[in-house]
Amino acid sequence: MNSDNKNPRMLILVVEDDAPVRSLITTALKAHDYRHIVAANGQNAIAEASSHNPDAMLLDLGLPDIDGVEVIRRVRSWSNLPIIVISARSEDADKIEALDAGADDYLTKPFSVDELLARLRVTQRRLAMMRADAAQDSVYRNGSLRIDFAAGCAYMGEEELHLTPIEYKLLCLLARNTGKVLTHTYITQNVWGSSWDNDIASLRVFMAALRRKIELSPDSPQYIQTHIGIGYRMMKLE
Ligand code: CA
Repeated sequence: MNSDNKNPRMLILVVEDDAPVRSLITTALKAHDYRHIVAANGQNAIAEASSHNPDAMLLDLGLPDIDGVEVIRRVRSWSNLPIIVISARSEDADKIEALDAGADDYLTKPFSVDELLARLRVTQRRLAMMRADAAQDSVYRNGSLRIDFAAGCAYMGEEELHLTPIEYKLLCLLARNTGKVLTHTYITQNVWGSSWDNDIASLRVFMAALRRKIELSPDSPQYIQTHIGIGYRMMKLE
């Protein structure tokens, strides 16, 4: 959990039908001591994911047989394996579709290998946190932020935060998914149980209020990052 690249034997499933791109990715993974397996189409991706139980999947969306978004949906029906999409589709609507289907993160082609490795490390930390959460107590810590889930209280340093029930729910949802981009629809469905345009407008208002309480300078937030037109992500602070 305290390591960036010291858990190097992660097994990564690389799903990409374009051989040069596939080899660019696998070369970078090898150089950074990751293990990998590959699939060149959607059927194989699903088969490899179920038979090898990889630690993360890097997924192209434009595949020759099944669309990548459908691959995400199918894998999500039985696994919470982290999925990072790497796609040439750059429209917000495409990103939202993939994230709503259950992808964890999204990189647009052409991508930088360094950026890809950074996203993988975030995924790795999130996995470690999820495992630690499941194994241990119910206290979340990130930078100066602390949430005591059992007591239903959140703190910034020693100071207890005075949050409304909705702000607290929002904060917990983001915290439990640290490192992952959550779409507006996902958040409103989880917080309000519905996802009307009105809810998305209210979400902005609640998010602004929450930020005033947890961010040192709400205009350049450290904890909650905005993905314009898409959603929000809780960042992992050192
Ligand atoms: Ca492709």
